[in-house]
Amino acid sequence: MSLDYVKFSNGFEKFMPKEYRDMVEHGPFGKKISVSQMGSFKEVLEEHPMCAGCAMTLFIRLAMIAFPNPEDTITVGTAGCGRLAISQAAIPFVYGNYGDQNGVASGLSRGLRLRFGDKPKDVVVMAGDGGTADIGFQQVLHSWFRKERFTTIMLDNEVYGNTGGQESGMTNRGAVLKMAPLGKKFEKMDMVQMAKVAGCAYVATVVPNNPRRVESVIKKAVLIAREVGATYIQAYTSCNIEYAIPTDKVMEDAKTVENDRYAFSEYISDEAKQYLTERYGYKEFLPKPAAPAAAIPGKA
Ligand code: SF4
Repeated sequence: MSLDYVKFSNGFEKFMPKEYRDMVEHGPFGKKISVSQMGSFKEVLEEHPMCAGCAMTLFIRLAMIAFPNPEDTITVGTAGCGRLAISQAAIPFVYGNYGDQNGVASGLSRGLRLRFGDKPKDVVVMAGDGGTADIGFQQVLHSWFRKERFTTIMLDNEVYGNTGGQESGMTNRGAVLKMAPLGKKFEKMDMVQMAKVAGCAYVATVVPNNPRRVESVIKKAVLIAREVGATYIQAYTSCNIEYAIPTDKVMEDAKTVENDRYAFSEYISDEAKQYLTERYGYKEFLPKPAAPAAAIPGKA
């Protein structure tokens, strides 16, 4: 977990595979990289075994580009489609047992702080809706109440896509799936509200078809988690297989869903605003200057 682990050992450069050399020479480590530069650098995640056109993989790619310090970041995941891609990235990945990812991340985050002190080592959980809102719900919620300083990202495809289409707590009421043929009888869980009630310092909802916005929310969430407290991002990442979305319509679907029921939202605590402003120079949270008083008709 430092720039050293992506450098060549003296004399070994010429023996390393081309992929490795490309990553050292053209990867994002130690540089300021933006999603607007995609295509001009080597990404930490390029190959994965997920379905063609899966929106989740696009989101994971964007999220990884947005990590403020990828060379100092560990991702934590659990069973589900997402970990098939996350585990292929050129940054360390810890695979928890199903549902314990936020417990694992709590220990990891605390251990890294003990070991490295003030030097930021970012821990980012990326797990599906089943892992976050169903099977891992208890550990997710308690990590938020404890204000554990790491980011939780839910890859919300609104289904158990990896196991053939069972409904999850995040599936919408009435949705008919292969393993829920009568339609879901209960409402989609309001994890955003629960994150706020549990005290998360930053909570956002986002869809993957706006890369700059994805980049912005991931950066803020990771930076705030370094010192202020738990942060949560809920990303709509459709399952084109279980919801029968044609591959070439995946982004269109994301836009439709965003307009319909997954609008961008962002909650940020006052403490987090102050921290981002003072520590990282975010100007958007500075108090707005008062508008000049309107002229009174007839007065000079
Ligand atoms: S099953 Fe669905 S969520 Fe899983 S990789 Fe395929 S399209 Fe993506």
